[in-house]
Amino acid sequence: MHPNHIPTGRSNLLEGDFYAFQDLLAPEEREAALRLRDFMEREVRPIADDYWDRAEFPHHLIPGIAATGVLGTAWPESRRFPNSALFRGWAAVEIARVDASFATFVGVTSGLAMGAIGVGGSDEQRAAWLPPMGRGEVVGAFGLTEPLAGSDTARGLRTTAVRRGDTWILDGAKRWIGNATFADITLIWAKDIDDGQVKGFIVRKDTPGFKTEKIERKQSLRGVQNADITLTGVEVPEADRLQRIDSFKDLAGVLGPTRVGVAWEAMGIALGAHEAAVRYAAEREQFGRPIASFQLVQQKLAENLADVTAGLAVCVRAAQLEDAGKRRDEHAAMAKAFCTSRMRTVVARARAVLGGNGIQLDHGVARYFADAEAVYSYEGTYDMNTLIVGRAITGRQAFV
Ligand SMILES: Cc1cc2nc3c(=O)[nH]c(=O)nc-3n(C[C@H](O)[C@H](O)[C@H](O)COP(=O)(O)OP(=O)(O)OC[C@H]3O[C@@H](n4cnc5c(N)ncnc54)[C@H](O)[C@@H]3O)c2cc1C
Repeated sequence: MHPNHIPTGRSNLLEGDFYAFQDLLAPEEREAALRLRDFMEREVRPIADDYWDRAEFPHHLIPGIAATGVLGTAWPESRRFPNSALFRGWAAVEIARVDASFATFVGVTSGLAMGAIGVGGSDEQRAAWLPPMGRGEVVGAFGLTEPLAGSDTARGLRTTAVRRGDTWILDGAKRWIGNATFADITLIWAKDIDDGQVKGFIVRKDTPGFKTEKIERKQSLRGVQNADITLTGVEVPEADRLQRIDSFKDLAGVLGPTRVGVAWEAMGIALGAHEAAVRYAAEREQFGRPIASFQLVQQKLAENLADVTAGLAVCVRAAQLEDAGKRRDEHAAMAKAFCTSRMRTVVARARAVLGGNGIQLDHGVARYFADAEAVYSYEGTYDMNTLIVGRAITGRQAFV
């Protein structure tokens, strides 16, 4: 059994779920969360460090994660049971507390790619793609960021779409696109040169002119297969253009829920690091006693638990607002910025509790510490999300 394995049982609350947020789930959601936890502990935890170390993705786990029923839970075409935004968030916690790379894989195919089709697709497109994606038979990627447009994608996309009859021709480049080296479809966002608006296209893996190259030597989320993509005269039929996306504003409707999803994911990462630090502090002895008995170590553990609890509280309320149809972009931005900043602090404290072992993969914190950096920056950097909140407070946009 892996040293970081936590036994799961029906009534087992996670030790870091101090205010028992999990109790807020409906009974069926709770069952599903426990099923998911069991899958993550049995199948993912034992191999996560090694895959991370080799910068590989465990493809063989895709049918297993699909079988837990957590892919595409937001959409009637793909959901297996009634569920709330709270459940979808909690599922991200359960996955990320074991492996943030795997959580990112799920976030990209189930949140971003299925979200784009769910929000922007016609009824026919939703019916064609969402069910097989929910079953894990089709994996999606989401290609928005470009080499020259990261924070500035709303204005700065260079990838172009030109319509010729019923065919679109895409040209340009994308950067950092998760899952893209192996995804069956990649949602490509490009500027229509006719009206200057951003449109979304479902690009199939083997389309001529669509080329991916894995980004090597990453030091964060090493299990995620990020790609540089080049698009050279890529032909996409009008039938594969997302029919309900006419501008960047429509695309922003996809990113709201996924941003809150990253906030939950950040709390999963924080929770995983906190749990490992608690265990380590109980086992490691210095000066003749467990380091858990020292006040300064207890302070770090207590502060970490408070940060995790505060972050989860923000996530829970954001989920309630989502279900009530009241969640605004600035709510999502605040959750993402606040939770990722708390996560970064928590993983740093947890790493310090482990001393030298905190930087080595085998002791359960180093991977979380490294992964936190990418999560802090993707789906809108801390700065950009903070500025979205700043705009909501002041009515003034500070980032353009
Ligand atoms: C592991 C990983 C996975 C990713 N997966 C995907 C994916 O699947 N699909 C996808 O489309 N993208 C993906 N991304 C891209 C990600 O969303 C971008 O990295 C992110 O939006 C930031 O863009 P950038 O890296 O170009 O940084 P930049 O935009 O160049 O920002 C650099 C710095 O400048 C700051 N900055 C920029 N503009 C302003 C401003 N106006 N005011 C103040 N500060 C500013 C930023 O906050 C940041 O600190 C991924 C990235 C990573 C690292």
